[in-house]
Amino acid sequence: MTVPNPAHIKTALPGPKAAAMIARDAEVISPSYPRDYPFAMSHGRGTEVWDVDGNRFLDFAAGIAVCATGHAHPRVVEAVKCAADKFLHISSDYWHAQMLGLGERLARVAPMLTLAGEPAMSFLCQSGTEAVEGALKLVRYVTRRPRYIGFLGGFHGRTMGSLSFTSSKYTQQLGFAPTMPGVTHVPYPNPYRPLFAGADQGKAVLDYIRMLFERSVPASEVAAFLVEPIQGEGGYIVPPEGFLAGLRELCDEHGILLIFDEVQSGVGRTGKMFACEHTGVVPDIMTLAKGLGSGLPIGAVVAKKSLMSQWKRGAHGNTYGGNPLACAAANATLDLVSEGLADNAAAMGAHFMARLHELSRDYPCIGELRGRGLMIGMELVEADAERTPARALCDAVVTRAFHNGLLLLSCGTSTVRFMPPLSVSTSEIDEAMVLLRASLDQALAGH
Ligand code: PMP
Repeated sequence: MTVPNPAHIKTALPGPKAAAMIARDAEVISPSYPRDYPFAMSHGRGTEVWDVDGNRFLDFAAGIAVCATGHAHPRVVEAVKCAADKFLHISSDYWHAQMLGLGERLARVAPMLTLAGEPAMSFLCQSGTEAVEGALKLVRYVTRRPRYIGFLGGFHGRTMGSLSFTSSKYTQQLGFAPTMPGVTHVPYPNPYRPLFAGADQGKAVLDYIRMLFERSVPASEVAAFLVEPIQGEGGYIVPPEGFLAGLRELCDEHGILLIFDEVQSGVGRTGKMFACEHTGVVPDIMTLAKGLGSGLPIGAVVAKKSLMSQWKRGAHGNTYGGNPLACAAANATLDLVSEGLADNAAAMGAHFMARLHELSRDYPCIGELRGRGLMIGMELVEADAERTPARALCDAVVTRAFHNGLLLLSCGTSTVRFMPPLSVSTSEIDEAMVLLRASLDQALAGH
């Protein structure tokens, strides 16, 4: 089998420098990180990255959907350098322009304002899981209700509160019980893998929740639903039309708050600033991280002002929230995404999806292509009528792609996911398609 673009790869992978680094790392860094293949990074620009042995790769994983503006975008780097020249840290006990700038930008783009005309306020932190923890605390504080509802297949983080909701793989919770009490999981509607009879899986899930309210979980005790508007780690699943609107109605009926976890889907990834904008449904609270800082660690709880303003001084806080470097990166990122990167994600997503549909004609193992913008999943299935997930094939495609010079990650049971930087070009997508086709051929041939 020929490798499509041998110029990418100078040495057998991992090269000698990467192999030496990985061996030393194994002695001092926790083995708990789920590392799938031996990529040891040297540097990156845009969609391109190089390993320590000088091999070039196209990065269609973007640090798990983090490098929204591409690697080392000059405007983000400049903004961080300027901020670093002034001071590295002051703590969230004080005021400064970068933090204020981010609060104002988030208030301007928040769906609460853009879709419903309601002002929003933000709490800043360092990661997705902390943003989720903040949202969980806020809804409990405001409602004083003890229960929550999450969705099977959801991913919300790995700290104890967010972990209690995370259920995209059982291994995430294995060994950590008991998790937080009061969390009930319900199915996430997946039209490709229907759990319920009938065509409308969204309506079926809403009926299931209503049944739950009648039988075991009193709606009056539920503080909030925590839901991804597009399920990420669970398999890049787009819920059927009307589902999120139905959830909103259920919330309004019972005084339950709606939290959208947009940690993976937010900040331009789907071709709009936030994934919920595709549906017109407005959450009460939204959690952000990943793409927000283009790589600098930052997260945010963005909530309706009427909710967040109820937090009394000292109710919730942290040391690093509003760190000037992270905020400078986020301010530059939000500007770049508003100025054109979200539009580019929409256009490039359409091109990419069209190319993947062409590819799927030659590969019956491609069961479904789904997603929005540059959040695209390719579910691989066995050649049977049951759509049996082709787990081994999915792993093999991701590994072969690495050896061909294309960084990918998987999600769900057997879904290859594509989440390149929002700045990706048609020529980079076309190059990735050549590498992907070769990777599929090699994986199917057992190489
Ligand atoms: N929520 C969602 C939707 C995510 O995809 C992730 C990370 N994959 C998280 C929360 C947790 O984010 P972090 O890893 O920054 O804690």
